[in-house]
Amino acid sequence: MTSRYATFDDDARARARAPRRDMPLDDDALVALRRACARVSTSRDALDAASGDMGAHARARPDAVATPTTTAEAAALVRECARRRIAVVPRGAGTGLEGGCVAHAGGVVGDTSALRGVEVFAADGVARVGAGVKKSELNAALKPHGFQFGPDPSSNPSIGGMASTGGSGLSTLKYGTSKENIRSMVVVTPDGSVVRTRAEVRKSSTGYELNALYLGAEGTLGIITELTVRLVPLPKARCGAVVRFRDVGSAGKTVAEATAMNLTTLLRCELMNDEGIKVTNVVFKTNLPCEPTLFLEFVGNRNEEMFADWDAFLARAIANGSTSHTFAKDGAELDEIWDARRGCYLGAMRYRGLEAGTKAKEKVYVGDVCVPPSKLAECISVTEREFKKARFPCVICAHIADGNFHCLIPFQERERAALIALEDKVIGNAIQMGGTASGEHGVGIGKQKYIIQEHGIAHIDIQRRIKRALDPHNIMNPGKIISWDPSDTERARPRASRL
Ligand SMILES: Cc1cc2nc3c(=O)[nH]c(=O)nc-3n(C[C@H](O)[C@H](O)[C@H](O)COP(=O)(O)OP(=O)(O)OC[C@H]3O[C@@H](n4cnc5c(N)ncnc54)[C@H](O)[C@@H]3O)c2cc1C
Repeated sequence: MTSRYATFDDDARARARAPRRDMPLDDDALVALRRACARVSTSRDALDAASGDMGAHARARPDAVATPTTTAEAAALVRECARRRIAVVPRGAGTGLEGGCVAHAGGVVGDTSALRGVEVFAADGVARVGAGVKKSELNAALKPHGFQFGPDPSSNPSIGGMASTGGSGLSTLKYGTSKENIRSMVVVTPDGSVVRTRAEVRKSSTGYELNALYLGAEGTLGIITELTVRLVPLPKARCGAVVRFRDVGSAGKTVAEATAMNLTTLLRCELMNDEGIKVTNVVFKTNLPCEPTLFLEFVGNRNEEMFADWDAFLARAIANGSTSHTFAKDGAELDEIWDARRGCYLGAMRYRGLEAGTKAKEKVYVGDVCVPPSKLAECISVTEREFKKARFPCVICAHIADGNFHCLIPFQERERAALIALEDKVIGNAIQMGGTASGEHGVGIGKQKYIIQEHGIAHIDIQRRIKRALDPHNIMNPGKIISWDPSDTERARPRASRL
């Protein structure tokens, strides 16, 4: 029998099954949930729509989907679920890649999409945002005020989801990740209380940093209903460039040297390896030379500043043997290429089908390791070698200046075992180099075994004690990030973390 819990990792599969519902979601419970929250659906369509994310992990249908429209409604819902020991799985836009918003243990999905609203406080440099507002909606609301939200993932997630995964993307070099751009949050805790994580001011020194605790908690400690985000002024001008190299190492060396020069107008610095370019050409009908390529964008208020930074970058690129480059004085000329870069994941889905002439789409595994920038070129080269040995296409796109890269692997079910072996090697190498198993996508169920390898059991035990203290009935998103009880395999897993 195929398990609906099939994931890349048997341990994670077992943990995702953590029994959570002590009482069934019967008619009586449904009536009570509907008293707490007006919109609770058990229709087949609603359950199906909330049964997966955009990753390749197993889907699972929840027992109900609740869609609160206010913090008070979300709190009443959680209180009722806590009383009845019903699992609550927060869900944002469902663009996650690690199965984080999937109700593998059943229960109620807490759909945050109706938590809306954007209030701008320009004088304070912040905006209050409903957790369900999506990145592009937030930016559209901020634009008339001359602002934007700094972090820019290739997807269009909810701001609550970004906070919960520590999401980032194409602009981290200049603006930081969501962890640096979310100042305060309103959270419904696992017992249904409502707390603000910290004051909305820039500086606060009043105890433990609860904001940091909830950033990256992946819905395991509560539902975020509202966020206060830092406003970033819109730049007046942008320009961009594409720079090609014979090998990834030369591109990596150029980026390391350029970032050390503190080029303040450099916003985006992305790498695609030759196979990534090949995918782009096949799927997006571009005609780019198949070489490791850097895509750059500079932003500022004056052209001179940006052009000076580009000149400095180009000098390092030439010194490191770049083969060719194209400069676009007006950054908008490069928008099509940025669209193609954002489309890497969807491109990888269609790549082998288009090559074979079948047009079939495949599942795609997405790696997300992050290493110290000085180790990035070496890590990518080792990864490319491992891919070749395993005979998988090696599509790599990297937020290279951050040391974070994604390998996108199209695969068929019959290739899963080979894929897991490859994933073990790629992530193992990154951890050995002082890196992390996930730079921005989070743990969900997909990366659980690797965080033990990365942090060691003593560290994971601290995380587990926090979870158990704040959610003693294991109500909130059970089975995600860490197991409730450590398994024997977990205890036996070798620790690679450096002390
Ligand atoms: C094509 C593509 C490109 C991508 N590119 C990037 C990228 O460049 N950078 C990047 O960081 N990510 C990227 N991602 C991954 C994904 O978009 C992020 O992980 C995103 O932050 C998830 O947000 P979401 O709203 O979709 O959350 P969901 O997928 O709905 O949920 C993700 C996790 O957050 C929890 N959660 C969601 N909302 C809340 C809430 N309000 N309160 C508490 N917990 C909550 C869920 O329980 C779950 O554990 C990409 C994904 C795709 C498909």
